[in-house]
Amino acid sequence: MENISRRGLLMGGLAAAAGLADVAAGGQPIGPGNGHGNGTPSLKHAKGDKNAWDVIVVGAGAAGIGAARRLTDQNPDLRVVIVEARDRIGGRMYTDRTSMGIPVERGCELVHGGPYASTYPWIEQAGFDMRMFQNNYIRQADAPMSSPAAQWHQWDSPTSWLFPLGMPEALNPYDPAGQNLPLPTVVDGEMADAYLLRLGVTAANTPTGLNYELTDDSEPLYATAAARVAAPLRDCIRYTLHPDQAPEPEILDPNDSRYDDGDYKIIGGYDQLLHFVAGDVPVMLRTVVQEVGYTTNGVELLTSKGTMFGRRVVFAVPAGVMQRRDIAFTPGLPAAKWAAFDAFEYHDIFKCVLEFKERVFTPNGTDNWGYAESMDHFPTTLWNASIAYPGYKGQVIVGWETGAAARELHALPLEQKYQAVLEVVRKSAGDPGLQYHKAVMTDWANEPYSWGPYGSGGSSSDMAATVGGVLYWAGMRTSTVSSSYSSGVTQADQLLLAL
Ligand SMILES: Cc1cc2nc3c(=O)[nH]c(=O)nc-3n(C[C@H](O)[C@H](O)[C@H](O)COP(=O)(O)OP(=O)(O)OC[C@H]3O[C@@H](n4cnc5c(N)ncnc54)[C@H](O)[C@@H]3O)c2cc1C
Repeated sequence: MENISRRGLLMGGLAAAAGLADVAAGGQPIGPGNGHGNGTPSLKHAKGDKNAWDVIVVGAGAAGIGAARRLTDQNPDLRVVIVEARDRIGGRMYTDRTSMGIPVERGCELVHGGPYASTYPWIEQAGFDMRMFQNNYIRQADAPMSSPAAQWHQWDSPTSWLFPLGMPEALNPYDPAGQNLPLPTVVDGEMADAYLLRLGVTAANTPTGLNYELTDDSEPLYATAAARVAAPLRDCIRYTLHPDQAPEPEILDPNDSRYDDGDYKIIGGYDQLLHFVAGDVPVMLRTVVQEVGYTTNGVELLTSKGTMFGRRVVFAVPAGVMQRRDIAFTPGLPAAKWAAFDAFEYHDIFKCVLEFKERVFTPNGTDNWGYAESMDHFPTTLWNASIAYPGYKGQVIVGWETGAAARELHALPLEQKYQAVLEVVRKSAGDPGLQYHKAVMTDWANEPYSWGPYGSGGSSSDMAATVGGVLYWAGMRTSTVSSSYSSGVTQADQLLLAL
């Protein structure tokens, strides 16, 4: 027994699988970097063997469920199963239904694009209640109360271009009559905050719209390249000196296709979507895929629950799982694929959810608001996670931060993370004594089976390239639910064509 390698075991098991018995004989193992199969796939699936499937999908997130659903819908005769490491489906879509008085999202929360998202046909078919974040506000919280910038205003309203303490006189010459003259050149390596200061614009006097445009969902000004400042700063100078030239703010309207990038929430929990899409596709929960052996004719998976055989396998795990080599492949994968995984980088995202026993804060006097961002607070963004729960007496507010500021928040002990968000809610509500009732957050960077929230980098085509005609790849580096879902559908279509 000790003379038989793990790979030998895998290949032997593959040959022995009912309905796949010709695999070891007919299919040649594929050498590392080869990427081309030379065997003849068996077209008969292993009827009667509960461990043998036509297609095994690894990962029950949006990508895996998208792939499995598509395969099943396009060919109901195919035996398709999803294998999932966790005890729930959804992956980074994680609706927590027990911690607070209403379902809360620890991972993804928003349907970006709403009616224009690739998942929307399912949302519509299921009849889910989907609400747009229509009323979104920013402010410079610590500006003098007399300054309009201290009040909640829309990010693109005329107020957002104003200097909270008045425009520095030194900026006057750059746009005396709306000519938009060039601003001083940026010094090598200069950051946005330093450049602004050089032009006389202090942190306290930075227009909210400029700050928002440069930092929203990215890095704070101290980690933003100065070269990005000129365009929005020129707008601030122009609209301050020539208010008549300021554009009208957007009126967000879910029925207006110009706002196809709006943010929406599925009331009652995002996870309803993936449960609906998954339908009756079988899912094996708590089953961790650890090792993979493959030939051109089929694939053998060694899982925490035993061995499984598939004619094809779709991997729909995050790039972070591949980076950490959590799954071993025999033969090895092409070098370009590993290089693509290794070049992927997760972004820094901080998301913390606080529940209050009653409604404690609104920026506009109603329950219908989406974002409230204090550009000089930390974390910057609060959002309304209890929108459209009329019977619910409490309030759930998310604290959100990105980039270097998110890293700083993550470095705090858990209780201080909650306190940081609470401080921003207290200041926003104008109530320094406010206490939260419950608090939860997930540290996605240290979460097994994810190892990060979402990110970018690495060649998407190398990550998605089929290996040996039997291994398919969905999701991996996709950073939204709809792009993950779409990648699953695309891979399913390719697989069906190749069968
Ligand atoms: C905090 C946060 C906020 C976000 N906000 C949004 C948002 O508002 N809107 C949006 O569109 N997107 C958002 N995203 C991104 C979005 O959640 C992801 O892009 C999307 O859910 C990824 O889907 P996926 O199927 O590609 O991967 P995942 O959802 O990660 O699914 C992969 C699955 O593979 C399983 N798995 C991993 N390893 C193994 C193994 N060895 N064996 C078996 N199974 C395994 C995992 O358990 C998981 O279920 C957010 C993400 C985070 C973390």
